[in-house]
Amino acid sequence: GAERIKNVLILMSDTGGGHRASAEAIREAFKLEYGDEYNVKKESADLVNMDLWLQIIVKDVWKEYTGWPLNDMEGQYKFMVKHVQLWKVAFHSTSPRWIHSCYLAAIAAYYAKEVEAGLMEYKPDIIISVHPLMQHIPLWVLKWQGLQKKVIFATVITDLNSCHPTWFHPGVNRCYCPSKEVAKRAALDGLEDSQIRVFGLPIRPSFALAVLSKDELREELELDPDLPAVLLMGGGEGMGPVKKTALALGESLFDKELGKPLGQLIIICGRNKALKSTLESHEWTIPVKVEDFTSCAYNMPWFALFQVRGFETQMEKWMGACDCIITKAGPGTIAEALIRGLPIILNDYIPGQEKGNVPYVVDNGAGVFTRSPKETARIVKEWFSTKTDERKRMSENALKLAQPEAVFDIVKDIHELAQARGPLVNIPYMLTSSFASLI
Ligand code: UDP
Repeated sequence: GAERIKNVLILMSDTGGGHRASAEAIREAFKLEYGDEYNVKKESADLVNMDLWLQIIVKDVWKEYTGWPLNDMEGQYKFMVKHVQLWKVAFHSTSPRWIHSCYLAAIAAYYAKEVEAGLMEYKPDIIISVHPLMQHIPLWVLKWQGLQKKVIFATVITDLNSCHPTWFHPGVNRCYCPSKEVAKRAALDGLEDSQIRVFGLPIRPSFALAVLSKDELREELELDPDLPAVLLMGGGEGMGPVKKTALALGESLFDKELGKPLGQLIIICGRNKALKSTLESHEWTIPVKVEDFTSCAYNMPWFALFQVRGFETQMEKWMGACDCIITKAGPGTIAEALIRGLPIILNDYIPGQEKGNVPYVVDNGAGVFTRSPKETARIVKEWFSTKTDERKRMSENALKLAQPEAVFDIVKDIHELAQARGPLVNIPYMLTSSFASLI
């Protein structure tokens, strides 16, 4: 029958590339699995995104605040720095739930009208949040609108291990956890088994679907066909000790006695243009390729909300062409590397949400952690010469952890939830003045 197209609103934010990557992955999987049955877009926008909401909600309020420990990260994480109070609540809340609940309740009440207007515009049948701070406010709005039973609300957690409590909200229909560890936390935080599903972190379908031969990729990407290759990156922002590590690798991967390289290096700088130009102007003794977003990824002004063109990434190709990876502990990059069976050297993490990703990789035997560029360079050299066995073992462990199908499992489960709701009715979003009366 000609069913009405269901509207899906994905709530995300602009921090790094991880949330966006997951949101994009979900949108794409909906399209691949169900074609036009779901509308995960908004008019010309490629990806309905939450930046708009975040801006509405926290607009101007937190600008004046400084002092959050992450300020010294050169403002790369605009969001954290800007919304400093929210992050304090989110991360430093060994504080009980009622504190952040009340806090967010106050914000929600204050900006309720705008939030409502956002819902009015998108009229979502299904809301999917891929952001730790995006459960409470939209769920309150739904509750106050009396729509809690009509709209499906799902959280897709994008931290692999340690997550802050704001991810978990007992009012969701589903909470998709990327790992068993996270599922345990969800249960401890009061979610029912019926709400929790463990499928893995959603990764862009191109990673799951690609059948790639290393030789072909190397030819296509104009890499040396024979030398082992190491991929060096630092998330969407090109963060962490990328430059120092690159220089150290330049030394360690050049065999002075034989006067030739032991390996080649590919550096993905993300949006860090300065890093790219510094690295490009360096004189290398080993084969080096330096790439950034315009050549390999999002290809858009990061802040232009409605010109999101999505990923034009070739990350699956770069990863498929390499033999190991060095990265900060970003969940997206880690999950992608696992799918490609790359042993991982973690050289940095963002305090708070990325810390737990380190033991996830190390304890499962898929990689190592070191902050020292020298140490990193030494390990890569060994992996490429005397310790190829170790590299192979870690590669196998990585593949064991990989969950390329996760994104499809998630959208299928959401689809089943939607089917179980029976025939679609138009969801009566209303502009009310109820919030004003609540405060
Ligand atoms: N990425 C990309 N192109 C780049 C740099 C990064 O496509 O030039 C992608 C990367 O493949 C991953 C995401 O951006 O999917 C980064 O997410 P992660 O969670 O690792 O770190 P974040 O940037 O969110 O801190």
